[in-house]
Amino acid sequence: MRSIVLILIFAVMTISGDPLTDWAAFELNVRDGIISKDSARSDFPDIYKKIKSEAEQYRYSSDVKWSIPIAGCSITDFGKGGFKPDIRYGGSEIKGYDFYDGNRHGGHPAYDIFIKDKNRDCLDDKSGKSVQVVAPINCFVLTSSSGWMKGSSIRGGNYVWAFAPDSGYFLYFAHMREIKVKPGTFLKQGDTLGTVGRTGKNADIPRSPTHIHMTVLKVNGENLKPVDFINKF
Ligand SMILES: [Zn+2]
Repeated sequence: MRSIVLILIFAVMTISGDPLTDWAAFELNVRDGIISKDSARSDFPDIYKKIKSEAEQYRYSSDVKWSIPIAGCSITDFGKGGFKPDIRYGGSEIKGYDFYDGNRHGGHPAYDIFIKDKNRDCLDDKSGKSVQVVAPINCFVLTSSSGWMKGSSIRGGNYVWAFAPDSGYFLYFAHMREIKVKPGTFLKQGDTLGTVGRTGKNADIPRSPTHIHMTVLKVNGENLKPVDFINKF
């Protein structure tokens, strides 16, 4: 009985027609491997079309220089050689990044941006304050996933997905502590998304320096391809 109810709820979610609800179900289904990669791929173009038209009511600017996504950080705080989409990484048995591998994905299609936090308390060593994660460009929030708990296998921890329709970029910010935005929020460049944290299966372990993992993906048909965005700043 319980599974019938769950299937019904799932079915309603998938055919809701609301772009943010559709994306929420899609993103979780991909992350957790609930639907096959093939069916996720074939669902995506329709969801993308709806997200794009929902987001297009806001103003975007594609030509601007991007802001560093952590307040007070600079380009020197980016991990050296961080963008490696083709490697085996993070205990994944998969080599190379494919968005549709979800939480099991391989590769490191991202930059890790580090704060100064020797004692791993998520606070800046000098100021003793939490550190803001900010929007690098104008973007539209799709997912704000908080509530990650120690022991969870979710690698991104508390994370945000956002979208910039002029470029077709999907932006992903992982390992956050607090998240201060909601799906449907339009962010201007420099607006706060939340704070830097240590959430996520591997980000949580003591040897991991405190950082945000930021990925940018570009839509290409039914695929989402990693973009090396280091030259945008
Ligand atoms: Zn990373």
